[in-house]
Amino acid sequence: MISEDKRPGRLNVANRRPEIILAEERGFCFGVRRALEIIEAAGRRYGRVQSLGGIVHNLQVVKRLEEVGVTAVKSLDEVTTPVVAITAHGVGPGIPAEARARGYEVIDTTCPLVTKVHQAVKRLADEGFFIIIFGDPNHPEVRGALGWAGNAKTLVTLDWEEIRKIKPLPHKIGIVSQTTQPVSLFSNFVKAIMDWVFPRPVEIRVINTICDPTIKRQQDAVELARQVDVMIVIGGRHSANTRHLAEMCAAEGVETHHIEVPEEVDPAWLRGRSRVGVTAGASTPDWIIEAVVRRLEEVADQVAAEAGVLTGD
Ligand code: SF4
Repeated sequence: MISEDKRPGRLNVANRRPEIILAEERGFCFGVRRALEIIEAAGRRYGRVQSLGGIVHNLQVVKRLEEVGVTAVKSLDEVTTPVVAITAHGVGPGIPAEARARGYEVIDTTCPLVTKVHQAVKRLADEGFFIIIFGDPNHPEVRGALGWAGNAKTLVTLDWEEIRKIKPLPHKIGIVSQTTQPVSLFSNFVKAIMDWVFPRPVEIRVINTICDPTIKRQQDAVELARQVDVMIVIGGRHSANTRHLAEMCAAEGVETHHIEVPEEVDPAWLRGRSRVGVTAGASTPDWIIEAVVRRLEEVADQVAAEAGVLTGD
């Protein structure tokens, strides 16, 4: 459980069947869907394909890919198949070139919205900016984006105070974001840097590279969290964008549960509740969302039946 419902005045209807409400935008984003389609087709065509890093942070999807011959390796040095796939997270420009030079066929599934981050980083580097990436330094998308910075000086951080340690402060500062970060956090990060830097004569260029599907998914999740008694967020425990969704729902003060599979649904979450919201991270496939919703509907029936017995309805 991420949090308990702390909102004042929430009325729960004990003897009514809880309603299950799905966020409008949820689950696979178009970038992940596209990458999976390309890689699954390649697996079927070539029999064996290795991707550089995991395709998605979702164990159930990884298992399904293994069934069509797609597995992940950490680096080019580990590749043992003639075909290598670049994931939706993208890579630096040197990797596909190196793979081809080693004789591998390269299948590139980089999300077009990640390519926009690459272009932004390259543009800033070409124009002599010090580049700040608002993101997780260990995330593959961020590592790939850094590859486009060439020789430019860079900093990857989620904490604006890191900028204070840079001495001397560069005259040109470019800021971009990992595509899946929460918009409000990126905006606060940028504002804090501006406030600290502005007494000095600097040029700051901010490019909002958070992708549209992420923005929409976050907006829909928060909107739904404000209308329900409990939120269920479905997605891999290692999926950063799923964790962000759960944190944003919890921040609205609603009881929030981050789960991976339907078996984790606890009937206690639905007892005495009238509205249950459901959303899912960008790496969560439709079949898992459907299975969780089926389980929630079953539990809602049980809970309503129990309440009927208890109240004599
Ligand atoms: Fe592309 Fe956004 Fe999906 Fe990442 S989260 S794969 S950038 S659409």
